Amino acid sequence: MLGEGILKGLAETARNFFGSYVSKERLTTVQYPDERIPTVENARVFPFLVYDGPDWEAGLRCVACQICEKECPPKCIFIEKSKDKKPDFVGKMQFYPARFDIDTSVCMSCQICVEVCPFDAIRMNTAFELATDDRFGGLLLDRKHLAHSNEYYRSIHPTEAAELDARRAEEKASVEAKAKAAAAAAAAKAAAAQAAAAAPAKQPAEGGS
Ligand code: SF4
Ligand code: SF4
Repeated sequence: MLGEGILKGLAETARNFFGSYVSKERLTTVQYPDERIPTVENARVFPFLVYDGPDWEAGLRCVACQICEKECPPKCIFIEKSKDKKPDFVGKMQFYPARFDIDTSVCMSCQICVEVCPFDAIRMNTAFELATDDRFGGLLLDRKHLAHSNEYYRSIHPTEAAELDARRAEEKASVEAKAKAAAAAAAAKAAAAQAAAAAPAKQPAEGGS
């Protein structure tokens, strides 16, 4: 019948509209901010910097490689590399960002910075209550405001964070196993060299008996 779909749609709308007075399940709105709909796991607002351990500054994963700064389409990331280095999660000495700012008034939440980061250091936040009356300074977030712990990351993106934790644990175990093997090989080489140095000294004594 011509217009059947429209009538069905209108009937569904009417059912939900009148039904919402008697059934809470048919309500499509909540009394925000007293009531909140839980944020879905794949929601994304602005990026944040992940840190490990209790100290946000020492634990930042970012090594200031500046790839995200170069790839960000609207150029709203500003990084200054440190002069010194600190150890990363596998003990390798790395630079860190002496300055890392994101201008959230320009950021378009595209997530490209997350996708290009080789160090899993930047992720998308789900926090959206960021209103401020300071249009310029209030929307330029520095590294302290951008830093959030790995526990926070796990709480907002549990599936993604679990995969990442597993990959990083594997990487760390592999680096530690290689270091252990290298130390064992070095110890064996040193022992062999010591034995070789001791061998000629024994020969005259053996010949005289
Ligand atoms: S989400 Fe996109 S626009 Fe925002 S900082 Fe990252 S790359 Fe730039
Ligand atoms: S967030 Fe990632 S891509 Fe950006 S500078 Fe830090 S390590 Fe490099």
